[in-house]
Amino acid sequence: MRKTIIVLAAVAAVLTPPVSAHAATTATVVSPKRPLNVRAGAAVWTTSLRTLPHGATVEIDCQIKGQLINQGPVRVTDQWNRLTDGAYVSDAWVRRAPGVQIPACAQATAAPAAPAAPATPTAPATAAIPGTVASGATPLRTRSGPARTAQVLGTLSNGTPLSIVCQLRGESIAGAVRSTDMWDRLTSGVYVSDAYVRREATPPACTAAPAAPAPGAGAGPWVSPLPGFTARPGFRTPTNPNHVGVDIMSFVGTPIQAAAAGTVVEVTCNIEAGHSCDQPGSASIRGCGWYVKLQHADGISTLYCHMVRRGVVPPGQKVAAGQVIGYVGSSGNSSAPHLHFEVHVNTPPTSPGNAIDPLPFMRAHGAPIG
Ligand SMILES: [Zn+2]
Repeated sequence: MRKTIIVLAAVAAVLTPPVSAHAATTATVVSPKRPLNVRAGAAVWTTSLRTLPHGATVEIDCQIKGQLINQGPVRVTDQWNRLTDGAYVSDAWVRRAPGVQIPACAQATAAPAAPAAPATPTAPATAAIPGTVASGATPLRTRSGPARTAQVLGTLSNGTPLSIVCQLRGESIAGAVRSTDMWDRLTSGVYVSDAYVRREATPPACTAAPAAPAPGAGAGPWVSPLPGFTARPGFRTPTNPNHVGVDIMSFVGTPIQAAAAGTVVEVTCNIEAGHSCDQPGSASIRGCGWYVKLQHADGISTLYCHMVRRGVVPPGQKVAAGQVIGYVGSSGNSSAPHLHFEVHVNTPPTSPGNAIDPLPFMRAHGAPIG
């Protein structure tokens, strides 16, 4: 779980209200081919709150470490800029004056009460709506997005005063105050279900247009590729930086499921010349053995390696979430039966550069694997 803890620690910085003594840094969006997504968190699978056109100006409050983005036009970086309204853009897509240092987003400890966040040039200036947490004995969870599958960023006890910037449609919740699918975005950028919030006015919508779904949401429900087995953190570890997936230890012959609906795009033996995918591999043989690659909606691909024999679905076939696509083995670069599972974004094509850590991705999509 080591990797997961690091990610959570980074996202926990979201809790910090923008009470910066320093001035915001002005930067320019560099995204000539398509609008840049402004997101609820520091990763591409967090909710897109709005988009910004090429050349738009943003006001950056601070930076946190998040998903590594290596396809931006400005730089390769895992730093994400928190804007003055609490939303995020990858630093890979913004240009700013050379030599300008953006501070790290501080931790939430002992932060004074936050004033309402100043509006960005792209957002209309609206006063925050006051509210109060009404959750009874159970503290209300603050999250990175408008659903219980979004990451928990903190808790607020009953009676805590809130400053609500706007509302977004999300998961329907039956709470102590009302049953609703509306979620409130607070001035600190986090979300709470409106089902547990007492307030005197209705906050404005967070965006004029409905928010774009998180990447991968269009693929429908996600499921574990190997139910009952868990992955070890292992994505790009310091000792194995080229390992762009996670390993789920299992037994030869265990059925491997499609993690989401999609289309089979590859069913291949990938192994060093002179070896066979139909025999157990070893740590000294290169290649991921028999593998299946699936293409899902929203530019997401998944890859399943080291199968015991050729995948049981042909290229071009549509598969449903949970459909068996092959069986666990140890072909290729493998010293014990396991599934090596990868998730890629912005596909096709897949490449090591667009692989993301499957653990937080699958958790964010309601199908934790480790
Ligand atoms: Zn692996």
